Amino acid sequence: MPNTKYIFVTGGVTSSLGKGIISASLAKLLQARGFKTTIQKFDPYINVDPGTLNPYEHGECYVTDDGAETDLDLGHYERFLNVATTQANNVTTGRIYQSVIEKERRGEFLGKTVQVVPHITNEIKERIQLLGQTGEYDVVITEIGGTVGDIESLPYIEAVRQLRWELGEHNGLVIHLTLIPFLSAAGELKTKPTQHSVKTLMQSGINADVLVCRTEHELSEELRHKLALFCNVKREAVIQSIDAPTIYDVPILMQEERLDEVVLDKLALPKDQTLNLSQWSDFLGRLKNPKSTVNIGLIGKYVELQDSYKSILEAFIHAGAQNEVKVKVHSIHSEYIEASTIEKKIAHLDGVLVAPGFGSRGVEGKIDAIQYARENNIPFLGICLGMQMAVIEFARNVLGLKEANSSEMDEQTPHPVISIMEEQKAVIDKGGTMRLGAWKCSISEGTIASNVYKTSEIMERHRHRYEFNDTYKKQLTEAGMVTSGLNPDTGLVEIIEISNHPWFVGVQYHPEYKSTVVNPHPLFVAFIAASKKHSLKKNA
Ligand code: GLN
Repeated sequence: MPNTKYIFVTGGVTSSLGKGIISASLAKLLQARGFKTTIQKFDPYINVDPGTLNPYEHGECYVTDDGAETDLDLGHYERFLNVATTQANNVTTGRIYQSVIEKERRGEFLGKTVQVVPHITNEIKERIQLLGQTGEYDVVITEIGGTVGDIESLPYIEAVRQLRWELGEHNGLVIHLTLIPFLSAAGELKTKPTQHSVKTLMQSGINADVLVCRTEHELSEELRHKLALFCNVKREAVIQSIDAPTIYDVPILMQEERLDEVVLDKLALPKDQTLNLSQWSDFLGRLKNPKSTVNIGLIGKYVELQDSYKSILEAFIHAGAQNEVKVKVHSIHSEYIEASTIEKKIAHLDGVLVAPGFGSRGVEGKIDAIQYARENNIPFLGICLGMQMAVIEFARNVLGLKEANSSEMDEQTPHPVISIMEEQKAVIDKGGTMRLGAWKCSISEGTIASNVYKTSEIMERHRHRYEFNDTYKKQLTEAGMVTSGLNPDTGLVEIIEISNHPWFVGVQYHPEYKSTVVNPHPLFVAFIAASKKHSLKKNA
């Protein structure tokens, strides 16, 4: 009898129903009852990982401590559970095929014809059970990306069917997340698309155990009965998931619908433990009762798409709750910032965050915004490319090196204050080859960073190819730039500050990936605190 229980989450009717949030919310409830729970995501696309995907395609690329470039849902898992994920928590079709093809080349299939069934499905099953086999978890939740009925999802659905059968009763269950659309002309909620998607699942041999129904309106008792009857699930296993004010309300809503109890019953797990959500409720209380508002400019080039800066936006929510303020984010497209409009766009803000990014589009706008924040004492946080742009701005406007640039933007620049590392020069492959994952950083005493972190050594996650160029360090620091965080092994500059400014910090790493509900990131908390102070001063 395996000890680990497996929950599979599939999606029907449309994409974007929020499987990640439902999975994370269920995991939160199980964790709050004392079950060690992890979540993994299986994505049916052929990219080996989402690292090579443009944010417009798939939203933000999330990065784990072990340097995996992953789906943004892993960010939700970490933010909800406060437990780090790894490469094993995100698998794509590309990775599955890569591994099967490598085995074929090594002759491991002993002359057999290699096929989707059983070779691809076996590989999927093995990967699904990897985390469970570590013995670290009581429950492993597996989110299957895509929508049931898609051609590319088929091998996953077949793997889930086999695995559930192999695991036996009470060891695995399937939750199907579906949409109950509201037809305003008819004034009715409609169950037919759900019936069809449950049937599609059945054609693949899977009977859903639990239906989670996304809806904009309350499901009546009658409708719940109808769904149960036509979809072969028990009445109590029809769970309503109504639109929530924030994603952080969803665990509470799922608890009210007793999703956790239904799941524990099906898995024959005890449900007599007390459910401890006190930290979560404290957070929600602070989130919903802000005492004031701070206005933050988020300057980037992917601002049209909310998901591009997912972790940054969530880190603002955590930091806002911690400071008891509402963080109002003003998205500003860096391509449209010009000297003539800058005052109008930036002057009213209480803080400016310049986002990560790649390539030269929109960088000049970022540099102008940074200059404005620096000269007008507006709190500033630069992340990755945002930090690099802060160094360029300082070199150009304080040191007078007018052509200073990053060699990413201008290979011929006479002043590459940001440049590519020697070991990166020969790299041709784009996927998985940046400086990735967690790296140590030592913090100098008496700096904003040491005040923020209250420790002298930290670990933060990276995802970039270019670096602060040490050749310019002396010149920059003599002019007032402080290099307050260094990699203890390589000496690379990881944090910069400006001494004669109330709060100006640039970090080469991505603090947003590590901000969680229980542990809001100290850098975001301090940035929002500084912005709150700026707003009070401005309005005094
Ligand atoms: N494009 C920059 C680099 O590769 C910054 C990357 C980022 O912001 N994540 O170094």
